Amino acid sequence: MTSKRGLILEDAMLIVMKPSASPEEIGAVITRVKDLGFEAKAIPGAQRTAVAVTGNHGAVSADKFESLKGVKSVVRVSAPFKLVSREVKPEDTVISFASGVALGGDNFQVMAGPCSVESEEQILTTAKIVRDAGASFLRGGAYKPRTSPYAFQGLKEDGLELLAKAREATGLMVVTEVKDTETLPLVASYADVLQIGARNCQNYSLLEAAGRQDKPVMLKRGMSTTIKELLMAAEYVVNAGNPNVILCERGIRTFETMTRNTFDLGAIHMLKRLTHLPVIADPSHGIGLWHGVPALARAATVAGAHGLIVEVHPNPADAWSDGPQSLKPERFSQLMRELKALREVMHEVVQDV
Ligand code: PEP
Ligand code: MN
Repeated sequence: MTSKRGLILEDAMLIVMKPSASPEEIGAVITRVKDLGFEAKAIPGAQRTAVAVTGNHGAVSADKFESLKGVKSVVRVSAPFKLVSREVKPEDTVISFASGVALGGDNFQVMAGPCSVESEEQILTTAKIVRDAGASFLRGGAYKPRTSPYAFQGLKEDGLELLAKAREATGLMVVTEVKDTETLPLVASYADVLQIGARNCQNYSLLEAAGRQDKPVMLKRGMSTTIKELLMAAEYVVNAGNPNVILCERGIRTFETMTRNTFDLGAIHMLKRLTHLPVIADPSHGIGLWHGVPALARAATVAGAHGLIVEVHPNPADAWSDGPQSLKPERFSQLMRELKALREVMHEVVQDV
């Protein structure tokens, strides 16, 4: 909101630098912001750098910055989410990984693997299958947030060790869930991407802790989380210092019971419109039934998702968790071929890929 006095309270400000602005000029702007008692975050972009000013609990007027060298303009960020919004950073965030893989922008990546890590044989076999089919990340939970305290809770640190072995054997990057702040340092020491699950989407202590370390975070939409709430949750991570957040649509809870969740295809479109962060989809939890997974995976891809996370198990009937929604290896490989063909057609015929 704007008052006659200037920019107040909920509004963040964005100081847009001229393309020609020097690092010293950017530094001087950041110093001025901090001297005034606000937070400053430089957001480098392809065309220009911007400095986001947050924490302006009180009146601050744009002319405090407009006169500084190298400043092009000062704009108010009207979205309630600031750092993750396209207003602050118009171009897509692309996250680069040690393996040379990039996610976001024009890069489409598939994460695949079992719901839970069960044994060395299971995770190594699955890792090779999904790598050979074209996935670039291995998924697998070592710390499982289960609805029942009597259900399998994951192999914990032993599971993390097995994921590291599978990474070693295949070159895949590892995405695995972190359940709480206590285990975060341990999980982060093994993972290439930290998954924050639907049940923890609005666990603000966990989000802040994930924001204070440097592994990218894959944040899943909560079962009853609105698109705005998901973006606000991502804002916690970015505001705490970690710009590398991947958002994941994994279905929400509705009155429908025939499917496990109601997959929200519209959220993919809205998220891509509102945020520069990569947006992926989880068709496995999105429907909860293996036979529906390919259809949702294809739909999410055509809707513009930057990637997918898919549950694959060598023998779904024996899976320790989420067997009914896990694809058999052959069906997953077939799906990967379908996605490749679809993406080729999309690049030819779709205007706003
Ligand atoms: C999972 O990925 O296995 C999982 C628990 O997902 P979600 O948090 O979306 O339920
Ligand atoms: Mn699962």
